[in-house]
Amino acid sequence: MSDKSNATDKKLKQAIDARMAVEDARKYQVDTLSDFSAKLSLSCKGLDTELDNRLAKFRAALIKGVSFEDLSPLISETIVLLKNQESVQLSQQRDLYSSVQSAGKQLQKTKGLPEDTRRTLRHLLDHEINQVHSTHDFIPLLDQLISFYHQTLSLKLESASDDECTATPELAQKLLKLANELVLEDEATEEIKYIKNCITESDTLDALLKASINIISVIVKNINKERKSAQSFLSSLNQTLEDLHHSIVSTSKHSKSMEVEFDVLNKSIESKIKNLNVQTQNATSISSLKELVDNELKSLSEDFIAKEKLERTDREMLVSSFDEINGRIGSLESKLTKYKKRLNEQRFKSLLDSLTKLPNRAAFDERYNHEIHLFNVQSSDVTLAVIDVDHFKSINDRFGHTAGDITLQVIAKALQKSVRKSDFIARYGGEEFVLLMPSTSLINATAPLDKLRKIIKSIPFKFKDKQIEITISLGVTQLKKGDTPIIAFDRADDALYEAKNTGRDRLCISK
Ligand code: GH3
Ligand code: MG
Ligand code: MG
Repeated sequence: MSDKSNATDKKLKQAIDARMAVEDARKYQVDTLSDFSAKLSLSCKGLDTELDNRLAKFRAALIKGVSFEDLSPLISETIVLLKNQESVQLSQQRDLYSSVQSAGKQLQKTKGLPEDTRRTLRHLLDHEINQVHSTHDFIPLLDQLISFYHQTLSLKLESASDDECTATPELAQKLLKLANELVLEDEATEEIKYIKNCITESDTLDALLKASINIISVIVKNINKERKSAQSFLSSLNQTLEDLHHSIVSTSKHSKSMEVEFDVLNKSIESKIKNLNVQTQNATSISSLKELVDNELKSLSEDFIAKEKLERTDREMLVSSFDEINGRIGSLESKLTKYKKRLNEQRFKSLLDSLTKLPNRAAFDERYNHEIHLFNVQSSDVTLAVIDVDHFKSINDRFGHTAGDITLQVIAKALQKSVRKSDFIARYGGEEFVLLMPSTSLINATAPLDKLRKIIKSIPFKFKDKQIEITISLGVTQLKKGDTPIIAFDRADDALYEAKNTGRDRLCISK
């Protein structure tokens, strides 16, 4: 082989090597671009179908080996589509931001969210949400929000089913108020008292539900009992009236049958006398006359005896019949008296005072005992005030008892109107009233109580054209640990005594 051909061979080999190197490089570039476009396609897949198609075309062109110049328009078109996609994403992100924020705000309004959860939520909405720059950043935020939702939801679910879920105090108060308004017999009163204690001591929804059901069953039991007692009274009244009717009917029937017998006897006596008369006139001898008279008188005397006997039985029958009627009327009267007494007792048991229409002493005692119990369980402040009208006897003495009654009614109305809804005012007796102020300390009670004193003093009473000022004295105390109803009441009474002794028309405190 010549040197020339050797040199040519070498050049050719170099050229082939160079070409191969270029092809390798191009293959590498195409592979890289193809890989990139595949990854881009994958990450943009589903965002925009046009973008999807464009990227698929790009990849196919690369694999087919289109020249880079030919690829250039494809790349520009893809860039425009990607730019569009960017602005779409930005607006979606803004929407997401505002939805997440409004969802969070709604969650904040949920009642019963534990305090630390609420704090975390506030932090999330005030700070973390502002750190969000991409849709992706929302994911942990959404995650937390979902956990809040879950927590809230389970709280709600629990309150519908769980025994231990706490009931709102307002609900318990409502039920207590209902229980307080019940007027029932002794046995039921005890049951209601027990139920009220249960309401005070337990704050679960389940306990409240149970208490409500128990109250209903006590009421139903009481209604049944009341109905039975009224029914038995009415049926015994009915029976007595029926018996009475029987007695009267049988007496009159008896009298009628007696009348017939009397009639027969009278007629027989009459005819015998007539007969005796006729025969006497017709008698022919003394001896026959004597015999006739003897016989007729004998028969007549038998009739008279029979008549007398009949009269006696009739009298006896009448007397016994009237005795019976009397007895029945007597028993009816005693039944009526008993029933009236029962009704009166019930009226007494009623919790309203009939003159002033304020709760009466019985109502106060019940409420007071309950407040003392509540105080021992919850330790919330309770103030007790005993109120007595000053020189009330002189109103009666000067203007009469009726004027006194009206005065008490006016004072009661003014007191009722002036106390708060949560306070409990009652007529304790005579011209004395008591006021219970739950959730009120002595310090907080003084001003409203003194205002009450001024209100009564400013009422323009007028008797017999005379303007009269009526004042009240108040003894006030606050419940203390270990107080019994009597101890606390005596303390308030001591303060009232002091108010009376230091000039009346004032408020004194006993600590
Ligand atoms: P003090 O300032 O010391 O309380 O004097 P007072 O006169 O108010 O007290 P006292 O206890 O001596 O008299 C109370 C009077 O209240 C006697 C009684 O006749 C009268 N009273 C009690 N209940 C009623 C009532 O229902 N109607 C009338 N009209 N008077 C009543
Ligand atoms: Mg008095
Ligand atoms: Mg008085």
